[in-house]
Amino acid sequence: MSDPQLLLASYLKTLRLPTFLREYATVARQCGEKDAAYEEFLQQLAELEVQHRQVQSIARRIKQAAFPVVKDLADFDFAAVPKLNKKRVLDLAQGAFIEQRANVVLNGAPGVGKTHLAIGLGREACRNGQKVRFFTASGLVNAYVEAREERHITRLENHIRRHDLIIIDELGYIPLDRVGAEHLFGFFSQCYEQTSLIVTTNLPFAEWPQIFADDERLAGALLDRLTHHVYIVDITGDSYRLKTSLKQQKKKKGESAP
Ligand code: ADP
Ligand code: MG
Repeated sequence: MSDPQLLLASYLKTLRLPTFLREYATVARQCGEKDAAYEEFLQQLAELEVQHRQVQSIARRIKQAAFPVVKDLADFDFAAVPKLNKKRVLDLAQGAFIEQRANVVLNGAPGVGKTHLAIGLGREACRNGQKVRFFTASGLVNAYVEAREERHITRLENHIRRHDLIIIDELGYIPLDRVGAEHLFGFFSQCYEQTSLIVTTNLPFAEWPQIFADDERLAGALLDRLTHHVYIVDITGDSYRLKTSLKQQKKKKGESAP
């Protein structure tokens, strides 16, 4: 490498322009071949740098969201759940509810695709520039219990505050004790009109006191906050898991039949 090239590489590193550094020789050659103006050379490099940063920041946001698995809306078979309002789900994917600081409740029996849709909506939000975090309800309660001390609870609350959208998966599968219920109430109060939530649950609202240590008042106050600005998506249908495993069994039987 010549001295000017070494100097340029060092400046581009200082300016944190890795795509400029990686691509300038190629783009310079291409521009030279078609006699393009200097401005075009610079514009092309700047565009590549911006594109690269966007891809990287989406990947970073998806990683920080800590989704347990990769699920996208594009892979969701809406035909398998004809009673689900597809338009409503696709509208939610546009993310206006996050701007409104509103919440989404995905309600349905096990296996109907609640977690899939929640993750799909979460990944879409990451692509739209939002900061997202996934928790299971029990994982979130554990995080509070582990943060028991005041100082650590403040740190956890600051962490929560930094997000635009928080997903709480599987609310209602495991009943909470008094302490867990109070932590969750604190969490919902903190997020009220500040941070959007997507909650997945198998329980109708009338049964929520069961989750919250049989405390009607606590469950009522919590539901009040959650449902003040809410989009409710009911998913009625058969378990997709069960359907696919039945299909596989049938196929196997067909294969082994004489
Ligand atoms: P739930 O959270 O309601 O119990 P999941 O979202 O975990 O259900 O779905 C169970 C499995 O079935 C997952 O692997 C999910 O990707 C898949 N699944 C569920 N519904 C659909 C669907 N309509 N199209 C494609 N895959 C689906
Ligand atoms: Mg689930």
